[in-house]
Amino acid sequence: MDAIKQFENFGSLVFNEPCMKENLPRPIYKKWKESIVNENSLDRHTADAIAHAMKTWAISKNVTHFTHWFQPLTGSTAEKHDSFIEPDENGQPIIRFSGKSLIKGESDASSFPSGGLRATFEARGYTYWDISSPAFIRDNILCIPTVFVSYNGESLDKKAPLLKSIEAVSNAAVKIVNIFGDKEVKQVFPMVGLEQEYFIIDRTLYKNRLDLMLCNRTLIGSLPPKSQELDDHYFGSIPTRVANFMKEVNESLWQLGIYAKAEHNEVAPCQFEIAPIFSSCNIAVDQNQLIMDILKKTAEKHDLACLLHEKPFNGVNGSGKHNNWSLVTDDNQNLYEPGEKPGENVRFLLFMCAFIKAVDKYPELLRMGASNAGNDLRLGTSEAPPAIISIYLGDFIEEILSNLESSNSTSISRANQVSVSPITNLSYLPKDNTDRNRTSPMAFTGNKFEFRMLGSSLSSSSTNTFINTIVAEVLDEIAKELSDLKYKHDIRKESLDICKRIIKQHKRILFSKDGYSNDWLIEAKNRGLVNIETYVESINSLIDDKAINLFTKYNIYSKIELYARHEILAQQYNKTIGIEVKTLIYMIKKNIVPNIMQELNDYLTIASKTNIDFITNKVSQLSCILTDTTNLLDKLELEYKKIIDSTLPSIDKGLKIKNEINPIINQIRSIVDNFEDNCNCKNYTLPTYVDMLNRTI
Ligand code: ADP
Ligand code: MG
Repeated sequence: MDAIKQFENFGSLVFNEPCMKENLPRPIYKKWKESIVNENSLDRHTADAIAHAMKTWAISKNVTHFTHWFQPLTGSTAEKHDSFIEPDENGQPIIRFSGKSLIKGESDASSFPSGGLRATFEARGYTYWDISSPAFIRDNILCIPTVFVSYNGESLDKKAPLLKSIEAVSNAAVKIVNIFGDKEVKQVFPMVGLEQEYFIIDRTLYKNRLDLMLCNRTLIGSLPPKSQELDDHYFGSIPTRVANFMKEVNESLWQLGIYAKAEHNEVAPCQFEIAPIFSSCNIAVDQNQLIMDILKKTAEKHDLACLLHEKPFNGVNGSGKHNNWSLVTDDNQNLYEPGEKPGENVRFLLFMCAFIKAVDKYPELLRMGASNAGNDLRLGTSEAPPAIISIYLGDFIEEILSNLESSNSTSISRANQVSVSPITNLSYLPKDNTDRNRTSPMAFTGNKFEFRMLGSSLSSSSTNTFINTIVAEVLDEIAKELSDLKYKHDIRKESLDICKRIIKQHKRILFSKDGYSNDWLIEAKNRGLVNIETYVESINSLIDDKAINLFTKYNIYSKIELYARHEILAQQYNKTIGIEVKTLIYMIKKNIVPNIMQELNDYLTIASKTNIDFITNKVSQLSCILTDTTNLLDKLELEYKKIIDSTLPSIDKGLKIKNEINPIINQIRSIVDNFEDNCNCKNYTLPTYVDMLNRTI
């Protein structure tokens, strides 16, 4: 497709606002718009009219089926297709899509994880249209974004809590914006921009690596002679094969109205990044799910495989998903923009301090929501921040806040800064006031926070649900303090006092130096910051009193839902490692053990003819490798079975797996990788890191 056509096709497969305006009768469009702004439900007549227009639009684009597209707790998306065609009362075919079908779907979804919320005999789940995210066409299917709830109304997905958290932070932020005089503002949107990292390798090699196919990462494999030492891949010229793949990815995303903007080579060989332009939180999360799906499917078409795992290759940089977050009012003011008007700067400081307090109060939740088993292999390994949450503000803002804490009127030490009070001085902040600190998990980057901890394969839904809710809580506390004020002229003074108190109490979370260094681990401990080293240990933070109080207060999750999610996450962890265990056993038995025996046989053949030391040593080394590997494999199988068959609660099984199983997996890996390093190429039958990272694209 040529460039003009590609741009012309932008948004052609999405039933977004302009499309609705064009295709809906005026009164219907107005009703839809009102229900978005006022968050009320649509009446039957309006829903029927929208469904009709949607169906006509979709059929004109060769669509035959529709689906309620939802995000179950697996972390990916789910869909069940229904055709538009059905028999009428007389048995004649009729093309039908009613408002009811648009709004509500029933799904026999007994196989989705529910953490005990739904017994299999009571398998019904319902999907409800999320009118704030536009319907779109994928592979000739009309996809309607929906929430997924149980018969009893408990949420079984990742979207419903996110929507509630968006409302919570909006309500709280609006109160403060209104107190500061912008009475017209009715909504504040969390805005999110998600940068997605991924690897691309040749598909044939991928298919010959069962670990990549089943676990999305290599369980064995030793480093190639060259990987990322020279940093020559980063921002380098994009290989032609990948450029063609990216072109098609962009085409598909643009058709879906997703502004795929930046694309570049990442640090590791075969690693790349794509970043769309930010949008409102709910839509950004949906779009990221689509981006991951499109990356995978498009790679397939190009005989490539897209790896979204956090750490596909040991010893090579892993992949993350950077979650850029800000708050923007319905009249387009970014509340994290330091601002031009001096009068707004106190408000900026308040929003900044609210964020600092929220993060310091709930670091465990942020750590947990951004993680999975795969992210454990990435965090804290000098390629991503450790699991300690801290905030990097940049010198300017940090100095303003610290001066504010020590005195009300402050001066900034930078030569080019005018020495006045922080209230007015902020308008002199240079735009790019934050130097890049890529070692910080949470960096303020000028007018937004960039959260870099999130694993690349994860849905960003939980992360954003947590950020929105924790910030909502602090903003509400601040709004209450300010609205309790008797004399309104006290607002500025009171706001600065609130900021001072927050900084005093929560400044321990601010850290500007090297987050990858060992010194930070020690300093963070001295500061009393939590460092939950592994994901499975962090899962409990979902059900501690602090989290239960927070989430039930805002009706984001009920206590039952939190316990159910806790159970699901623990089970998912155990299953993930379980699949790794079984895949490793399979590969070692089917590939590696025969490989070692072949190598041994080669040396034995020579040993029978000569008695050169090197050869005899090799024979005994290979015999040891064979014995150690098979012994460890037996141990792995046995220990894993013991844990899984035990009556322990899922979370305790998970902890045992982390403590007892992961070390055996690592031991096996190091023996096998050592064998690979020293064996004859012909006696290593799996595609190697050299094949995958150095030879393919
Ligand atoms: P970098 O790689 O330097 O972190 P990128 O340009 O690759 O930066 O990505 C930055 C992301 O942040 C993009 O998705 C961008 O649209 C998004 N972004 C920009 N401004 C905002 C904002 N106010 N709120 C949320 N996201 C934003
Ligand atoms: Mg980034």
